[in-house]
Amino acid sequence: MAVRRISIFGATGSIGQNTIDLIARAPGNYDVVALTGGRNVAQLAEDARRLGAEIAVTAYDEDGPALREALAGSGVEAAAGRAAILEAADRPADWVMSAIVGAAGLEPGLRALGQGAALALANKESMVCAGALMLAAARQGQGRILPVDSEHSAVFQALIGEDIAAVERVIITASGGAFRDWPLEALANATPAEAATHPNWDMGQRITIDSASMFNKALELIETKEFFGIKPEQIEAVVHPESLIHALVGFRDGALMAHVGPPDMRHAIGFALHWPERRELPVARLDLAALGQLNFRRACETRWPALRLAREVMVAGGLSGAIFNAAKETALDGFIEGRIGFTRMAPVVEEVLSKLSAHPSLNHAAFTLDTVLEADHLARITANEIMTT
Ligand code: NDP
Repeated sequence: MAVRRISIFGATGSIGQNTIDLIARAPGNYDVVALTGGRNVAQLAEDARRLGAEIAVTAYDEDGPALREALAGSGVEAAAGRAAILEAADRPADWVMSAIVGAAGLEPGLRALGQGAALALANKESMVCAGALMLAAARQGQGRILPVDSEHSAVFQALIGEDIAAVERVIITASGGAFRDWPLEALANATPAEAATHPNWDMGQRITIDSASMFNKALELIETKEFFGIKPEQIEAVVHPESLIHALVGFRDGALMAHVGPPDMRHAIGFALHWPERRELPVARLDLAALGQLNFRRACETRWPALRLAREVMVAGGLSGAIFNAAKETALDGFIEGRIGFTRMAPVVEEVLSKLSAHPSLNHAAFTLDTVLEADHLARITANEIMTT
């Protein structure tokens, strides 16, 4: 088997570490080109040494000296800053993991697609902000995007060998997050620590809080529309507390194809890593008789207004995804920093969407990287203004 050149963006995070776990089990199969991280320089340097990476990059200039020191004598190149991350994405690779959190993952993903890599996409924000640009970059670079979000990997797998025209609906499941069973009136006083505890998945802090508010599911609904070209009215979310069915695809004959598996991201990562083959993966096998039952509930838009906003964004299209995501990221910062309460996040995002939907300084007619970045920038400013008034 040919040795594959791979890079991991966001290597120090939850998805990045799960990816490294799989790579490190078969080191002879991979040449590691670039590993990137943020603040966790010690982890980045340790993994870069262990995997013999060509280059390790921290996103922050001020962390460059610590990274250089940690890699001294290792033969691994060290670099720092946003430009260095983008330069690393230009380095030829066969397979690139996009696992930076937030809109910061968009440009490295576009650059990796531009040089023809297969992009394993965990960074759902890229599709939400700029789905059309991502798909165009994949076409131009003759690479392809392989979904890593477990729901989208599930849909991707359910569609193998199927005609997309025969799809009637896509159902994305949601655990309901930390506050699924809390009384509605208690949500206003929920703390970031309480929101950052997930009932089933072990993930990064931001996506875990987004699971409690369902902003994560909202992003995934939009990602489904962008990635698979499914109409908004054909996409729904359902609460499934066990997180064992990740998504279902309904066809015009009434059949539902479900993807079932334990909540372990190494399945979706491994599927994208080995695609188009299916190889053995170190994930637990389900004992259905021991599980006994699976439960489902309607996803209530009063409890989770982010779902209603996602529907509006899917219908509006254009720059509204970038505005929605940036407003959400800023409101999430506000919640984590104690500037706003848990239930203020959705109203902040809604107000930003309404203020910017026809904003004169945004060229809504043009959908380019520049207009997406401008929309992102304005949405962050607007969300911060709203949170301080
Ligand atoms: P984590 O917070 O665990 O990791 C994020 C990674 O991005 C870290 O390597 C972090 O570096 C790096 N990073 C943070 N900010 C920046 C920045 N401005 N520029 C460059 N790098 C940065 O996140 P997750 O692994 O949980 O999630 C990553 C992505 O995957 C997200 O888009 C998420 O929605 C998606 N996803 C995650 C799932 C999961 O199970 N965790 C499931 C499905 C999708 P450092 O930590 O060193 O500061």
